[in-house]
Amino acid sequence: AVEEDLNSPLIKLNASEITLLRSWNPPQPVATEHAHIGSHPQKQEGLFYVGIGIPAGVLTPEQLNGLADLSDRFGNGELRLTVWQNLLIPNVTKEDLDSLTREVVALGLHVEPSNIRSGVIACTGNSYCKFASANTKGHARELMDYLEERCPMECPINIHLTGCSHSCAQHYIGDIGLLATQVKSGDTTKEGYHVFVGGGFGDKKEIGRQIAKAVAFDDLPLMLERLLKKFNSDSWPQESFQSFTQRQSVETMEDWIHAATEMK
Ligand code: SF4
Repeated sequence: AVEEDLNSPLIKLNASEITLLRSWNPPQPVATEHAHIGSHPQKQEGLFYVGIGIPAGVLTPEQLNGLADLSDRFGNGELRLTVWQNLLIPNVTKEDLDSLTREVVALGLHVEPSNIRSGVIACTGNSYCKFASANTKGHARELMDYLEERCPMECPINIHLTGCSHSCAQHYIGDIGLLATQVKSGDTTKEGYHVFVGGGFGDKKEIGRQIAKAVAFDDLPLMLERLLKKFNSDSWPQESFQSFTQRQSVETMEDWIHAATEMK
């Protein structure tokens, strides 16, 4: 009946053809989640909003006061928060964009989109949350600095660090998701993470797959460097990190990242 409906005979595939078909995952267009960083025209004629990168969502009181002051002077007193733990100053005129940008940079913040820095988010972590197994915000900033220097990316990467299984930073939907845990080290324990890759949301919704268990944070930057460099060298043109990792087996990715620790 199906062949009649299709007006075509069904083809029987052998085992290797089925495996090949299952592994096929066409490249997805790269994401643009970080596009709000920098200055962008609003719907309202002549007005712009400026997206400011806040590393892991951490501001000093001086920076926050400074931003409030900039918003009063160059905008209409509003500061808006983004889900990427960054911040927007809306309603800025074109004439004020350069001055505002200079003053934001003087506060130690950035308005240049960065494919790594703009997409790292972290939950509160053990500075202020009793459930946390690690200093997620501190580690997030260390990872940003390390990876940005060593792995320039041509497309945005989201890295989500979360301090416990409550997952306030939603590690399971990050390109790279890090779930904190205590890692045994001799007679003591160290802060570390379980590593997940390939998560997504919206029309790319997917739960990340775990590729490493209980990695001490000391070993993590090198592991992620190896993974991102593999993506940079082996991905297809315009392929997203999510799509790239989804067409790899967990075992393959385990081999890549563990080779990284042996390199140390
Ligand atoms: S994920 Fe856990 S550790 Fe992080 S803020 Fe939420 S409850 Fe606290």
